[in-house]
Amino acid sequence: MSTLFTKIINKEIPADIVYEDDLCLAFRDINPQAPVHILIIPKKEIVSIATLTAEDKEILAHIMLKTAEIAKHEGLADNGYRVVTNVGENGGQSVFHLHFHLLGGRKLTWPPG
Ligand code: 5GP
Repeated sequence: MSTLFTKIINKEIPADIVYEDDLCLAFRDINPQAPVHILIIPKKEIVSIATLTAEDKEILAHIMLKTAEIAKHEGLADNGYRVVTNVGENGGQSVFHLHFHLLGGRKLTWPPG
């Protein structure tokens, strides 16, 4: 089922897009939890990592490579950053379209809440 992220992919609702190609889209989170908070999503409608299939391998590898490139471009590479994906209710997932949170620009605590 489509989510609001499909509307962002289709440019039906606006977003601050920082990177886009045929396979993925990256845009700034509307409610940032760190000075840099970007969501990287596949254009394919995938609910979460829990529903990945073997045919999604290329998309996932691509997204990870692009996430590292975006982090570098945002100036996060030297001091580090965090990449998180929430899965389901206990994971705190609120949008059921796979997304990776790229968080950086401050010292992040561990463990998360
Ligand atoms: P989740 O809680 O599913 O891991 O993360 C969903 C994220 O999407 C949240 O961090 C939330 O702030 C972000 N988000 C929800 N709606 C929008 C929107 O319309 N635009 C943008 N840019 N981010 C959104």
